Amino acid sequence: MEQGIVPSNKTNDFYIAHKLKAREIECPDSHTVMATPELLDAWTELRKSVSEYNGYDTPIIVNSGFRTWDYHVKLYKRLYRDKDKHWKDAITERSRHLVGQALDMKTPNGLTTSKFEELAKLAGFTYTYIITPDPLYGDIHADVR
Ligand SMILES: [Zn+2]
Repeated sequence: MEQGIVPSNKTNDFYIAHKLKAREIECPDSHTVMATPELLDAWTELRKSVSEYNGYDTPIIVNSGFRTWDYHVKLYKRLYRDKDKHWKDAITERSRHLVGQALDMKTPNGLTTSKFEELAKLAGFTYTYIITPDPLYGDIHADVR
């Protein structure tokens, strides 16, 4: 972020897709957002199908959306700080988060992690994996590639 410039609390406070504000997928450091239409279409489909599955309007929390390279590096440095592997050997240089094609999301209430991943695939995410293997409260990565 540029020094001395503080974003207003209205920055990215607008809907970019169905029940998704730009701020929910922005890069936390720079407040920049990049998203492809395919990603937003898959999100919309997933958001609707989860609510349909549950029978009530169900929010989905996005843990991480768009990332600048600087933020991506920062994240990996933090993730691998206490690990044997060096962050440089672990970092995904071609991460879809860098090009607005990926979302990391918490499994919403009412479904299992694997059901959530299954719905993400049906919604149009072409590549998914479970980040934290908790059967009920797992986080998943989903991208359109
Ligand atoms: Zn991810």
